[in-house]
Amino acid sequence: MTYDFDLFVIGAGSGGIATARRAAEYGAKVGIAEFDRLGGTCVNRGCVPKKLMVYASRFPGAMEEAQGYGWSPVQSSLNWEEMITRVNNEVTRLNGIYQRMLDNSKVQIYQGRAKFIDSHTIEIGETKVTADKILIAVGGTPVRPYVPGIEHALISDDVFNMNPQPKRIVILGGGYIGCEFACILNGLGTEVIQVIRQDKILRGFDDDLRTEIQEGMIRHGIRIINNIKAVEITKTDNGVSVKVQTDSEENILADAVSLAALGRKPNTDNIGLENTGVKVDEAGMILVDQYSRTAEEHIYAVGDCTSKFQLTPVAINEGRALADTVFGGKSRVMSYENIPTAIFTSPEAATVGLTEAEAIEKYGSDRIKVYRSRFRPMYYTLAGKEEKTMMKLVVNQETDQVLGAHMVGDYAAEIIQGVAIAVKMGAKKADFDATVGIHPSSAEEFVTMR
Ligand code: FAD
Repeated sequence: MTYDFDLFVIGAGSGGIATARRAAEYGAKVGIAEFDRLGGTCVNRGCVPKKLMVYASRFPGAMEEAQGYGWSPVQSSLNWEEMITRVNNEVTRLNGIYQRMLDNSKVQIYQGRAKFIDSHTIEIGETKVTADKILIAVGGTPVRPYVPGIEHALISDDVFNMNPQPKRIVILGGGYIGCEFACILNGLGTEVIQVIRQDKILRGFDDDLRTEIQEGMIRHGIRIINNIKAVEITKTDNGVSVKVQTDSEENILADAVSLAALGRKPNTDNIGLENTGVKVDEAGMILVDQYSRTAEEHIYAVGDCTSKFQLTPVAINEGRALADTVFGGKSRVMSYENIPTAIFTSPEAATVGLTEAEAIEKYGSDRIKVYRSRFRPMYYTLAGKEEKTMMKLVVNQETDQVLGAHMVGDYAAEIIQGVAIAVKMGAKKADFDATVGIHPSSAEEFVTMR
């Protein structure tokens, strides 16, 4: 049987584009369908616009700190519309780069929503194509959990186009996206009230890291209301009213918006999976094996529609491993151990490997030694700010292996990326100790902790 394509990819996001290009490099004839802008969540409504807004949000702090070094006070105000326009222009520039990269790789792009007709045939609008192998890389969408009045809440996608800047916002949810948006908006001058169910933000991360970030966010002026039992949103003439129930009850008026940042679900509902043998779990996540293969041997899935690690580099690595295996003749599986990740809050945080709690659960508390350091970085002494950096190593006492490294503080993402190589290679605490520090820096603390 001959097909139109060797590989057809549904979804031109991080995972889809990476796979399509790698497969094309090996000589495969590749097609890709996308109904939205090229680049997916990361480029259009995730990592990229978010990080640009993180940068924008940190200038007021830097301008204040400069005075500690003898700079005269700076009078500056944010032109919100200008910032949003500039961020969106950058996204458009990146869309163009993706278009050129796919064109250069001779990947044929189909603009439209793709759906399975049968397990080798895809329909995109009026067009039908057949393919020997098919990749599902459709990503996910924010969910609106059941909260009365949730229809009045913005989702994370909307934040990048809010205009005008809200003066006051309530953020529902303590996950990393909610916390990042809380810090971005706070830095840009919006009054932020974050409302969460737990006693601490960032469930699942190391406990010290959660505490340190939460304290830092509060120090920067974000009000966090913990342990809420119920929330109800009502539209008012001037914005929204959010009724928050803890042990008592409070009505918070926000001037325009309330933002939901409470998880995501895979985009697997309307892609015709019922016309294939592909299996999904109860949440709609596509079930795959270690080679990203679904229950149908020639249909694959990568990225947010499959993974519990919903991160761009994970989607890309899964896709490249799959292309190497299927089209490059190099059998390769993605390793999920020691995936580093950052939380672009202010203070910033990053982490790799096991949390202290996970290490204790796996090895027992008598086998785990924790090294912790908390200090005011040199930069903030003259700046006169009480900003803290926290670093932590979780070590297996028996083998001396470093099982986890966690950091809260400036440049945490940049620092932990390097530490992650050592952790991934199985470095021992003795290897950290034998490494000469870079002085003066915060990072040197990772090789001097006792
Ligand atoms: P996506 O990038 O979502 O791509 C899926 C594509 O498929 C989309 O373009 C969609 O339009 C398309 N599609 C869906 N259905 C169809 C169909 N039927 N036909 C055609 N096309 C279809 N990750 C990080 O690593 N670092 C971060 O800092 C970070 N920040 C984030 C911030 C936010 C606010 C969000 C929401 C996410 C963030 N992420 C971050 C997560 C990251 O964006 C995702 O993990 C990543 O984009 C997943 O890639 P993917 O290829 O699986 O899906």
